[in-house]
Formats: sequence, structure tokens, C-alpha cells
Amino acid sequence: MARIVQKYGGTSVGDVERIKKVAERIKLTRDEGNEVVVVVSARAGVTNELIARAKAVCPQPSERELDQLLAIGEQETTALTAMALHGIGVDAISYTGAQAGIFTDMVHTKAKINTINPKPIEKDLKAGRVVIVAGFQGINDEGQVTTLGRGGSDLTGIALAAALKADKCEIYTDVDGVYTADPRIVKTARKLQEISYDEMLELASSGSKVMQSRSVEFAAKYNVVFEVRSSFNHNPGTIVKQEVASMERVVVRGVALDKDQSKVIVSNIVDKPGSAGKVFRALADANVNVDMIVQNVGRQGVANLTFTVPQTETHKAVKALEPVLKAIGGGEVAVDDAIAKLSVVGVGMRTHSGVAATLFQALAEAGINIELISTSEIKISVVVHQDRAEESARVAHAAFKLDQA
Ligand code: ASP
Ligand code: MG
Repeated sequence: MARIVQKYGGTSVGDVERIKKVAERIKLTRDEGNEVVVVVSARAGVTNELIARAKAVCPQPSERELDQLLAIGEQETTALTAMALHGIGVDAISYTGAQAGIFTDMVHTKAKINTINPKPIEKDLKAGRVVIVAGFQGINDEGQVTTLGRGGSDLTGIALAAALKADKCEIYTDVDGVYTADPRIVKTARKLQEISYDEMLELASSGSKVMQSRSVEFAAKYNVVFEVRSSFNHNPGTIVKQEVASMERVVVRGVALDKDQSKVIVSNIVDKPGSAGKVFRALADANVNVDMIVQNVGRQGVANLTFTVPQTETHKAVKALEPVLKAIGGGEVAVDDAIAKLSVVGVGMRTHSGVAATLFQALAEAGINIELISTSEIKISVVVHQDRAEESARVAHAAFKLDQA
């Protein structure tokens, strides 16, 4: 007998028919003699709808009330899943985050889990019951409902697997697992059998999001091995786990494309100590997420700074820079939205050289110009023109032979 935590995402429980399918899958796992704890998301779209309604009654809703409201999305699906199980003769009980003993800090709308009291769930498991827990929510020390940030049901699943010392943690979603690239863009993309936490996090921050990043960080910290798989078929998924030595044989694990970035060019600022500091201080104070940065030293004592920001933050960035440029004595800001960030990721980069050369050469041969470059220990990113973005992903995918097992 194994203890298994299964998390089902919003599309997997998107309507009553799908909830019945999920119940059948849970029954299968239970009938194999396992203890099963299930975490569910709200039906796909419900959380967005609730947020829209909140904003319709008040432009800046109180975060405490927002949590109170958003928590109902997951409560609906937990109760319905439990009922669907009853309907096929499986003993099951649904719990809110609070009832399941999930305690968080005091921060509304993006709370962190502090502790989980496993006792209530353990008791039900002993009694032979399947336990269905509402994802994305908990309770703080003052008894207030909190939520864990968008996509937070993943975190509930991983954290419960850790607290209950589960033998297996399965994250069910609408894709078959983690791929070497987005299969809609790169037709030869392959499903990965395994990937390390670090690679998964880098791919997520580079534009290919399968799971909430905080939950992957949590899994890494507590060494929770989990499998990302589809609830629509029975294919094996992708195992996400701590890096092992054999993983380094693969230089590049995957390719990611982020089309939601903009390039900001600050030109003709005085080239003296402190200018860059002031520019990036202002951006940090305005909570702008700056990614790739390049400085060109111009002539006649002026320099250009170029960097990328999420497209949604360009307006904020430009506004934050206006007073700074005045203060440091000049400079102009320009924005270029027609870009994309291409990244290649792999822990094998730690022990292999020539990865950048291979990537740059392949892009050059395809006639794709590189506008910016940045690297980390296990990632190389380049900015290319948006018109060539998808082609650049295919070129990189082929250059590292990712279509071959
Ligand atoms: N329902 C929440 C959201 O849409 C949590 C989740 O789905 O994981 O963000
Ligand atoms: Mg979700």
C-alpha cells in the first residue's frame, strides 16, 4: 500500500463530466489498495471570473475579502469531487484548507504555508476514506482565510505530499508532461522522462510555465519528487526531482520562448559612476522586474543602457525613468515591443563548454540576429526580433538535437 497525493488542475475539473472522470481515476488508484489524498483547483476560469466580479463592485477590493471570495472556487470542486466519489461507491470527504490543517502567514492573496497539521487527514485515511482538499487556500493564526497566489493549488499538493510523507505525488494537468519545447511551436518537441527542479524553474521563468514556480521551489527544498502528467489519458508523465549526476550528460534539456517581453533602451545618459545605479534603483522602487541588461559605452561621455522587462510593466518602467533622467542630466527612453526571449536550459551546461557558440552559430546560419545576450549557470538567453521568434526556437531545438531521444 502506498500513500499517493494527486493534484488536479482547473481544466481537469472544468465541468461535471470531467469531475466524474477524475472521480473514476481516483477510484482506480484507491482500488489498487492505496491511500489517496486529492487536491483540486477551481474550475478553469472561475478564479478569473471571481476577480472580475470583485473589481466590478469595487475597483480596489480589500485583499482580505478577495481571499474570502476566491476560496469558494476550490470549495465547489472539492465538494463535487467528493459527491462524485460517493456516486460510484467510494467513501470520501472534502475539506477546506483550514479544515485540512493548512496554516499560513498573515499575507493575504499570496500567503506562505507555515505548517500543516497532518492529523485530521491521517484519521480519515486510517478509516479508509479518500480525502479531497481545496487547493490554493489556508488559514492564518487569526482564523482568517488566506490564498497562496495564482496557481497555488500546485503548492497545496506539493506541501501536503511533504507533510503526509507521501510515497508519490502526481500533478495532473491538461498536458502530458514537460516537453523539450512548446509542441505547438516546435513539432518535433519530445516529452521528457525526467527533469531537475532547477531546470524546471529556469524553463518556467523563461516563458514555459507548466506549474507555479513557488511550488517547484518548495518541492526542491523538501525534496518532494513529483510527476507532471495528463488527466485526459494514462500516459506516463515527466518526473521532476533533485538533480542526479547522469542528468549532466544532457547539455540542453529544453528550449523556451517568452514573447511577453519588451526591450527598453535608455540612450545618451552621462557615463559616470552612479548613473546605472540611479536608473535601476528607480525601476526597483517601482517594482519593475528587470531581466537582461546590456550597457554600451558611447562616445563623448555618454552611454546607452538596454534591458528587458515584462510587457505589462513597460509603462511603469518609462514613468519611473522620467524623473531619474532629469536628475542625472539627460537621456532618452525608447521601447521596443517586437522582441522575444529565447532560452536554452540544462544542468549539463555546468560541465560542458561551447553551448553559447553552438546556439549563436545556429542562429547566424539561419540569418537570425541576436539583440541581447545573458547567461546563468544553466541557461543562455538571447533576444531576437518577434518575427523570427518561433523559427529561432526550432533552430535552437535542432541545434542541440533535442528531437532525438
Ligand atoms: N484557482 C487558483 C488560480 O486559478 C489556484 C489554482 O488553480 O491553482 O490561480
Ligand atoms: Mg490552475
